[in-house]
Amino acid sequence: MRKQRWMKTAALFLAVAAMALMPGLSSRAGTVIHAKRETKSAVSDLRTSSDSFYFAVSGMYTYSQLQSDIALLTQRYSGVSADSIGNTADGRQLYRIVIGNPAAEKKILVVAAMHAREYITTPLVMRQLKDLLDRRDSGDASLESVCVQFVPMLDPDGVAISQYALDGLQTNAMKRKVNAIIQSWAEWGLLEDTNKYNWYLNKWKNNANGVDLNRNFPTPGWAPLKDLRDKPASDLYKGPSGGSELETQAIMRLVQSQKFSEVVNYHSQGQIIYWAHSKAGAEVREREHNMGRIASRLTGYGLVTPGSGASEEGCSFKDWLDAEMNVPNITLEVGLGTAPVPETQLETIWTQNRKLLPELIAELLGRSTLLEEIKNEERAAKEQIEAGQSGSVQLNSAPAGKDSSVQLVAPRAE
Ligand SMILES: [Zn+2]
Repeated sequence: MRKQRWMKTAALFLAVAAMALMPGLSSRAGTVIHAKRETKSAVSDLRTSSDSFYFAVSGMYTYSQLQSDIALLTQRYSGVSADSIGNTADGRQLYRIVIGNPAAEKKILVVAAMHAREYITTPLVMRQLKDLLDRRDSGDASLESVCVQFVPMLDPDGVAISQYALDGLQTNAMKRKVNAIIQSWAEWGLLEDTNKYNWYLNKWKNNANGVDLNRNFPTPGWAPLKDLRDKPASDLYKGPSGGSELETQAIMRLVQSQKFSEVVNYHSQGQIIYWAHSKAGAEVREREHNMGRIASRLTGYGLVTPGSGASEEGCSFKDWLDAEMNVPNITLEVGLGTAPVPETQLETIWTQNRKLLPELIAELLGRSTLLEEIKNEERAAKEQIEAGQSGSVQLNSAPAGKDSSVQLVAPRAE
């Protein structure tokens, strides 16, 4: 019964999204498609007042639930627009939700689930979105001066594979294609051992074409990147060419059509933050350092030393934003263990991340005092250390405040 209702909601949303993509109604990224009034009432017919958001509970969060939650958000809150920035090989939509002032000069983009098995990031950013709306409705005027755009699931086909194996795919063509990828890795023993087979699909990180979207951006670093797979796989394969994938193209179009002030990119796992690497210009690096300091202070996650880890690979979303687009951005790895991290971690992840967007918005609008506080503490700590080195002061305790500049070397990036 419940499943049937989801399917109705899903079918309705596919129809709405298809309409949005029809020529004349504008399918271009950058054009916000407002939910039609008749759509809203049709959606409300399918939901009762007792319905709640799927992202509010800690279950496995699916594409269908995302569709249902987008419908409920547009029904419950004013000033929420949803559209699709593109579709996938298996026929899903790449949803974008826009809140705040669409005409504002300051814009933030929040991206989640670019890697399939990291789908716990989707309910996280959906909670962030709802929280910003609740703050607005409680009198916080920040959203009048900023536009916040969310792409909560950039790899919905891959998410479906990680969650439901081949059954998650909608089209026979893609089922055949993914099956062929599995067959091509038969030397791993996937076909003889059901546990290995299930493990392989549960750990699926790529899109349904077997391409790692975070190694698919057409930067100068794409060609020299040593491909650890060399053919479609569950992870790491960089694709037949830079920018070959529909999902990569869609997010690039969105960034190119909007002047984002900054981008927050959620991955899982490790409780670490990538903020910059050597290819970013000085101004971008400084902005990223500030974003990273704020994020580290609020989440408790460590800042990764620039120059170590995956941020040097050269064709990630971060590389492209840093070096090609000059858009300040940070990548946060939420959760601990191995992806997909269990849903029981969602409440902790939420607690760690709930203040981040309000604080980044405040900083962007020049209304934050936290960054100054952090800088003052860093200065004081540095002075204490320098004084200690000259022998005039005995250092016997750690610098005051929480250490926001934990430097990690060569972490394992997801
Ligand atoms: Zn990732």
